[in-house]
Amino acid sequence: MKIDILSIFPEFIDSYLSWSMIKKSIDEGFVDIGNINIRKFSKNKHKKVDDYPFGGGPGMVMTPEPIYEAINSVKTSQSKVIYLSPQGNVFNQKKAIELSKEEHLILISGHYEGIDNRIIENYVDEEISIGDFVLTGGEIPTMAIVDSIIRLIPGVLSSNDSFEEESHYNGLLEHPQYTRPREFLGHMVPDVLLSGNHANIEKWKKEKSIENTYRKRPDLLGDRDLSKEEVNILKEIKKEL
Ligand code: SAM
Repeated sequence: MKIDILSIFPEFIDSYLSWSMIKKSIDEGFVDIGNINIRKFSKNKHKKVDDYPFGGGPGMVMTPEPIYEAINSVKTSQSKVIYLSPQGNVFNQKKAIELSKEEHLILISGHYEGIDNRIIENYVDEEISIGDFVLTGGEIPTMAIVDSIIRLIPGVLSSNDSFEEESHYNGLLEHPQYTRPREFLGHMVPDVLLSGNHANIEKWKKEKSIENTYRKRPDLLGDRDLSKEEVNILKEIKKEL
């Protein structure tokens, strides 16, 4: 998979690309990430990429030409062009799975008051938001999206860290996790996890995943078709709570 990140702060993106799972996935060839400075495409002698908004108003707007040139420098017939924007579709795990299957993503990070709307209307396939709040720039949203996509590429995570069991992958939240010590300030790890009985442990995990979802994000249960077994588990949980 190829991802090209277009921003005016490539140094900020670079620092993220050199750590942890992202660095490993690049080094091992699972993903090829281009970190492109939009400023490089400015024809202005001071490499300016913003100007005053037509019609007035506060702040500056990113001009269309350098962004257009930056897109064209990497775009192929396989590319999907995404603009990170608080006005976009709100990102979630389903979208991460969908994007992880794309051949080539071009992610545009805005700044100031955003980018000239003619780029969005004519050269962007989708606007994506990471939530209903406004950040100063699209770099953090870009990195959040890149991180969530890369961990879904087969082979990036070891089988021990399988993403299939994590929250949201199957529409539920994950079960609670515990590690050593068995007793912490008088708080015990649930007995079943220490029992060595794998069938019981799996049953417990399934029940706790449904309970966690019911307690913390009941809205998710409405969005998902529950199996007969899950419906029965949920009935029992509701009786006990
Ligand atoms: N004036 C814009 C508006 O009201 O819709 C907000 C611009 S924001 C200050 C600057 C840049 O940050 C945007 O161009 C976008 O790339 C990024 N950004 C801010 N909040 C975001 C969010 N929730 N999701 C994705 N990108 C965001």
